[in-house]
Amino acid sequence: MIALLKDTAKLLELHGANPFQVRHYTKAAVGLEKIGQEVGGLSREALHKIAGLQPSTGKFIQEINTTGTLQRWEELTATTPQGVREMLALRGLGPKKVRVIWSTLGIESLPELLRACEEGRIAQLPGFGQKTQETIQASLAFREKQADKFHYASALPYATDLEKQLRQAFPALLISLTGALRRKMEVVERVEVLIGTEQVHTVFHWLDQQSMLQKEDKLSGPFAWRGQFVEHALKLTVLFCKPKEFYKQLILQTGSKAHLALFGGEGKQLGAVLDSIMEPLSEAEVYEQAKLPYIPPELREGQIELTWAREKGNPRLLEMKDLRGVFHSHTTYSDGKHSLAEMARYCRDLGYEYIGITDHSQRAVYAGGLTPAAIQQQHEEIDHLNKELAPFKIFKGIESDVLADGDLDYSDEVLARFDFVISSVHTGMNMDQKKATERIIKAIRNPYTTMLAHLTNRLLLKREGFPVDYRAVIDACADQGVVIEINANPWRLELDWRWVAYALSKKVWISVNPDAHDKESIQNMYYGVCVGRKGGLTQPNTFNALPRQEVTTYLQRRKVKSPRGA
Ligand SMILES: [Zn+2]
Ligand SMILES: [Zn+2]
Repeated sequence: MIALLKDTAKLLELHGANPFQVRHYTKAAVGLEKIGQEVGGLSREALHKIAGLQPSTGKFIQEINTTGTLQRWEELTATTPQGVREMLALRGLGPKKVRVIWSTLGIESLPELLRACEEGRIAQLPGFGQKTQETIQASLAFREKQADKFHYASALPYATDLEKQLRQAFPALLISLTGALRRKMEVVERVEVLIGTEQVHTVFHWLDQQSMLQKEDKLSGPFAWRGQFVEHALKLTVLFCKPKEFYKQLILQTGSKAHLALFGGEGKQLGAVLDSIMEPLSEAEVYEQAKLPYIPPELREGQIELTWAREKGNPRLLEMKDLRGVFHSHTTYSDGKHSLAEMARYCRDLGYEYIGITDHSQRAVYAGGLTPAAIQQQHEEIDHLNKELAPFKIFKGIESDVLADGDLDYSDEVLARFDFVISSVHTGMNMDQKKATERIIKAIRNPYTTMLAHLTNRLLLKREGFPVDYRAVIDACADQGVVIEINANPWRLELDWRWVAYALSKKVWISVNPDAHDKESIQNMYYGVCVGRKGGLTQPNTFNALPRQEVTTYLQRRKVKSPRGA
């Protein structure tokens, strides 16, 4: 509903509608976000009862509820070429700029847009310039690179479901997921399965029969079934091998290219064993013969696995059961779906010892950021709930926008009222690396910053993060004792796992945070644990693996130390 309203506003702007009309839809969308209540299917009477709902918004909702769409939107999309709509989604391009490109150059598709960039025609448009042209070109390249890829969280259910069905149909066979999905990569191109059997034919036939699958004959061969899941066109490769070769193949089919490259060099003892071993009964046996501990699939990326394997005692990687509490969660005070009490109770009922509530700060108007008065009210409610839910504890936090100059979003006096502050960049994404890095380091040096959220504000497969000097940012966090979050939202999953090991080497605390906007999303912490493991994250390095009392003490100490006083 909100997306439909926003899209209508964008399209109106694209078509040069009167700004008053555009605002009509934008205001409705923002209003609905603020109300944060599901309004689909509500009757006119029920809508009347919602406080703060504008009558004009009510009309839109009624139209959507009765017709399933907005007539205005239907008209606009019918007169807008698909390619032009795709341009609206590109970074660096808003409706006004797309309108100029469309109307002056007659460009109606992304390939045409790319050509115009390459020929320098975009830079010459009034109000564009070289920098905008480069941003558009970069967005187009990014989009190209991401085509046909899936978030780990969206591919996983298909993979596990297929694996389960295969096991049910062929309980005696050796079956495993392999490839990037088994390594829990944040983004995957395909589901890969390895099956050890002498009866390839039977399984082939079974795969052919599945209505959820579609075979690609040209790509398949006697030992490889290739095709896709019909829904979403997620690609699938099922490879077959002899049962006695299964565990050897499993290692070869699981590791990334970089991991396999190690077999010829630093990890040559493993390569040698793989060459000579006859019928291993498990992966562990292969590693054992190579005098290595079992390397979990997540680590097989050619990055840190050998260092990890040689470390004394091979530290056990973080598991869900190690987590004791939850930071970074939103409530209906800003743009969350569930109330403070609902979030807290849900979290307690999952067995966690605490939750850190962090609604958006005042500048984030689009997300219903909190005024100082709302903060006061929330804190009173937290005090009350803390009595009721004890020993479970709610920490008073805020997700403060980092402003363009690196300042936080409240005065020191207001910041001092929180138990902890998460600093986040949400806007001004077009800064160059130097500026962006300075901005974020200034926020890290702010004595009120406890934690740094989603470092580059990327959205996987959708938006590149802003460019940043990772090393400098992590070093600054180490200096200031600022915790770095692994944002566990499957779209974000950053701190990128490729930098986790560096952060750990600098003794930076990592916190696995759901950034939950509804209570169920607290479960997303699983995906954060997955990418944390890829970077070698362990329980002792994880901030929210600390028990309640230790977190309390840590936050209190940090607060007192704040040089500006609290
Ligand atoms: Zn955020
Ligand atoms: Zn957030």
